[in-house]
Amino acid sequence: MSNTIFAKIAAGEIPADIVYEDEEIVAFRDVNPQAPVHILIIPRLPIATLNDLTAEHAPLVGRMLHLAAELAKQEGIAEAGYRTVFNCNAAGGQTVYHLHLHLIGGRPLQWPPG
Ligand code: AMP
Repeated sequence: MSNTIFAKIAAGEIPADIVYEDEEIVAFRDVNPQAPVHILIIPRLPIATLNDLTAEHAPLVGRMLHLAAELAKQEGIAEAGYRTVFNCNAAGGQTVYHLHLHLIGGRPLQWPPG
């Protein structure tokens, strides 16, 4: 079982600005956005990090990435471009240990990231 803030958002126990949800996935706006569009896409399954994925999760992660592309279109940033990021563990900048895909866009993004 997971007790993270994202598990609580997925369960509807704490509020979030949800932009999409289905039986497997929830997407909501980041509370501390790093760009005009900053959406987090999470599985309802409490997978802690990218390291915890198994082959069985591959279709789910594929759906998360497809949803990111669909939401980018919906948000009007698809043509200009955007970034999708999974941070993994401390050195990767992960702070919430429930798998999440960042969709970031709406301004030019620098590379490499910090
Ligand atoms: P990461 O550093 O990759 O683990 O990303 C965690 C993200 O979750 C950060 O961008 C936070 O701003 C965001 N965040 C934390 N708590 C909430 C919340 N309650 N609702 C929405 N976003 C949140």
